[in-house]
Amino acid sequence: MFFIDTHCHLDDILFKSISDQIYQKAQFLGVNIILVPSTNIYGFDDIKNLSHNNSGIFYSLGIHPLSVIPNTHSNLDILYKLVTNVINDKKFIGIGEIGLDFRNIYDDRNITLQKEFFVKQLSIAEEFSLPLIIHSVKSQDILLGFLKKRHNSGGIIHSFSGSYQQANSFIDLGFLLGFGGSITYKRNTRVRHNVSSLPLTSIVLETDSPYMLPSWLNKDGGFFNSPCEIASIASVLANLRNCSLAEIANVTTKNVVNLIPKLNYFICNSK
Ligand SMILES: [Zn+2]
Repeated sequence: MFFIDTHCHLDDILFKSISDQIYQKAQFLGVNIILVPSTNIYGFDDIKNLSHNNSGIFYSLGIHPLSVIPNTHSNLDILYKLVTNVINDKKFIGIGEIGLDFRNIYDDRNITLQKEFFVKQLSIAEEFSLPLIIHSVKSQDILLGFLKKRHNSGGIIHSFSGSYQQANSFIDLGFLLGFGGSITYKRNTRVRHNVSSLPLTSIVLETDSPYMLPSWLNKDGGFFNSPCEIASIASVLANLRNCSLAEIANVTTKNVVNLIPKLNYFICNSK
């Protein structure tokens, strides 16, 4: 079976000395492609190198909403320059991780700043017709408002936690919805309802590792999550939707490839 982990921070400090090992094991388990988004400009080089050293790893460039700090607007120029440099890189797949995160944010200045960075990065993506990898926490409607005004090339709403209605609004705008560890907890009734009833053609798998531990790792006192968990997360999804694991693997993989045709090159060459 062929799986894609659409959101994994394999450059995270927790993976420092074991990222190669994790990558090999994930490949062995059928997680053939891993998309690694950047979160701040300091990680750009590492992520690029990681992708070029491992054939199944692809990267996106962006500044995460929680990495947005005052007086760093020049980082947006650095991002722009880098995107122009790597636009023809076959491992570079989009703009992200960008977005809005209003959890525990009570400072209007931070909200304004997050919006400024988000809008500017939407413009960069639009200029180069690049897909977006979006992080959205307690901000779905505001984010939808921004996206409705633009002409972006779709993307992935990672770790989607909004309502069924919001999910459909994102789908109408050409977005896929990423689901991972959160669907493995019985208490997460809304997310489990969404992932069971939305069209499978709009769903992609992700781990958000090393974060977002699935229930079994949590129960075992696990320290970190990894792309190796994708098949088990996909099994939970297959159970929830009452379909086969093969169908989950095939359709979710196809969804990602439709969004990012560059991946086809890798798939054709790895068969
Ligand atoms: Zn992330």
